[in-house]
Amino acid sequence: MEKVILVLNAGSSSLKFSVFELPASAEMRPLAIGQVEGLGTAPRFKAKDGEGNTIVERRWTTAEVAGPAQALQEIIALLRSHLEGRVLVGVGHRVVHGGPDYSEPLRIDAAALEKLDALVPLAPLHQPHNLAAIRAVQQARPEMPQVACFDTAFHRTQESIADLYGLPYEYYERGIRRYGFHGLSYEYIAATLPSVAPEIADGRVVVAHLGSGASMCAIHDGRSVGSSMGFTALDGLMMGTRPGNMDPGIVLYLLQQEGLSAKQIEDLLYKRSGLLGLSGIGNDMRVLLASEAPRARLAIELFVYRISRELGALAAVLGGLDALVFTAGIGENSARIRQLVCEKARWLGIELDAAANDQGGPRISRPESRTSAWVVPTNEELMIARHTRQLLSL
Ligand code: ADP
Repeated sequence: MEKVILVLNAGSSSLKFSVFELPASAEMRPLAIGQVEGLGTAPRFKAKDGEGNTIVERRWTTAEVAGPAQALQEIIALLRSHLEGRVLVGVGHRVVHGGPDYSEPLRIDAAALEKLDALVPLAPLHQPHNLAAIRAVQQARPEMPQVACFDTAFHRTQESIADLYGLPYEYYERGIRRYGFHGLSYEYIAATLPSVAPEIADGRVVVAHLGSGASMCAIHDGRSVGSSMGFTALDGLMMGTRPGNMDPGIVLYLLQQEGLSAKQIEDLLYKRSGLLGLSGIGNDMRVLLASEAPRARLAIELFVYRISRELGALAAVLGGLDALVFTAGIGENSARIRQLVCEKARWLGIELDAAANDQGGPRISRPESRTSAWVVPTNEELMIARHTRQLLSL
């Protein structure tokens, strides 16, 4: 019977999944991909097959599907009917935090789960949902092998100076460090460069992961040497609803002078800032690019400005730059944002090829450009599936 792997990415209100088949020699292909969204408010389920045809689309009340455990039951039921004749042999999870120690994916057992529980305070908004999905699988299929793949792991190759803050050293020992995130995306890009862009794969590369969350990573010879995200996923670039890098004194001011509670500040920083907060319109870059509103333009301008500043910083970490790679929703789809970023990066030797950029790459810089620019689509799910397959020897 043909074997398949399930990949789960659990968020606060959604459970995304992909199912991969395991051909003996070729790359794994997705057989189904979908998500249960709106958990806690208006649960809805959508899934497509590997060719993009819808295989399920339905809605429930919160009484019918209350949380991730029931969402998982629905996903398993769908797989049973849709993937008849195939057998599920492992589940891989995206887990946001692996703490200072995990630089590799981890096979889940009771001791591992306990260690991951201990990391909840480092990512209280994400880690509990990731772990809830692991527990839901344990409950539904106790014998099923599971693997946790961490968003922080790829960055553990960074030198210790790169993850240190200028706080008293005891805070570093207590775990207040720059962890960096989006690691599965960067790892996928680093693994893909040798085939898509072999001339830069060993070089000094900055990857810009520009999605609703956004960050940048400096990669040298395929290894992470610096990242724009730090202790949490709030640092670095301005994002859809997060402000990115800002003076920590602002948080003190909001607490002490404006009388905001910690919860209100959390809400402000995670959900009401960034493109949404500045534009007052929304966090969808497509909407902002189509808008004539002055504050939509301002939001885009700051988005690009922050990227160009971070690019300069990461080029300094690398001691020079051979290539800039764009990925994720905005990076892969918006020729306009790529153009604006590349124009500001001319001083680094990037000369954009406008036609190639409009066509979406992969190479979007002119042949004579000293530093090249690229578009490489990311695939975090496939990265998780690869790790799961490898760790479980499937
Ligand atoms: P995430 O996985 O972090 O939710 P994605 O990587 O899917 O995010 O990126 C989502 C973002 O990509 C959205 O904010 C959307 O505005 C942006 N996006 C998608 N397509 C385009 C496009 N054609 N032009 C500009 N932005 C786009």
